[in-house]
Amino acid sequence: MNEHYKFINIPLPYAYNAMEPYIDEKTMMLHHDKHLQTYIDNLNNTLSEYPQFQNWTLEQLIMNIPSLPNEIQTAIKNNGGGVFNHQFYFSNLAPSTSSYPVGILGEAIENEFGSYQSFQDQFKTAALSVFGSGYAWLVVDATGQLRIITTQNQDTPLPLMMCPVLSIDVWEHAYYLKHYNKRADYIDDWFHVVNWNNANRNYMRCVIPLKFVQ
Ligand code: MN
Repeated sequence: MNEHYKFINIPLPYAYNAMEPYIDEKTMMLHHDKHLQTYIDNLNNTLSEYPQFQNWTLEQLIMNIPSLPNEIQTAIKNNGGGVFNHQFYFSNLAPSTSSYPVGILGEAIENEFGSYQSFQDQFKTAALSVFGSGYAWLVVDATGQLRIITTQNQDTPLPLMMCPVLSIDVWEHAYYLKHYNKRADYIDDWFHVVNWNNANRNYMRCVIPLKFVQ
């Protein structure tokens, strides 16, 4: 990912069919090349007339929406969020290898939720509860605690001062071609292709500043 404007759609670090049979090739292709591309194009178009924000990172833009000019706040929220959320979602997928949480994240999930099974149940319930379009997230809150939250549309956990560890995109475009309206089946399949190594790295990035900087 380039740091700031002009944002580019970097290729996925795996083949479009790498998540088969859990996430189908056509969905991955459309999701990355069309849906994410549109958010990137719209974000770049919005920033093209605001050079004073062109050296801001994506996170800076998302964290500082209230201080942006009124006329671009909604566009940055929706499209900046759309870019962040999709890049985060795609980075947390991996071909089905380790389907179990690893490292200190694995321990933290057991401590917080009792067991991986219990975490899965709660995460699935949260993902099913999103009305319309949005995401379910595993995050670290400002006190360092693991929590499951949901967000609407392309809202991100960042302005809530929550550090994302893992997310599932539950917009219909993420699953409709394969699963039609059955979001629950998509969630079950998605668990097979979670990149737990990456989630563990995210978790360490979230908690290490809390433990050692304060
Ligand atoms: Mn999506």
